[in-house]
Amino acid sequence: MVSPGPTCQHCGIALPDAAYVDRPRVFCCHRCALRAQELRRLLKQVERSYLMTVEALAAALAPTPSRSSTCRRSAC
Ligand SMILES: [Zn+2]
Repeated sequence: MVSPGPTCQHCGIALPDAAYVDRPRVFCCHRCALRAQELRRLLKQVERSYLMTVEALAAALAPTPSRSSTCRRSAC
């Protein structure tokens, strides 16, 4: 009986040359490796956009010196 060769751990196709290895003993085909790489790139873009939004919101809500130091009462 022939033991099955390595297969992609994500989609299950046979990997005759086992050229793509994501981690030790975890085989991954070229298509799944590219898909994971694209997903990581997109997640970084989303994370960067999220951080920029949070920073802009924090800057908009932070008190500015001109607003906080100017007293609007006429007695000051
Ligand atoms: Zn695959």
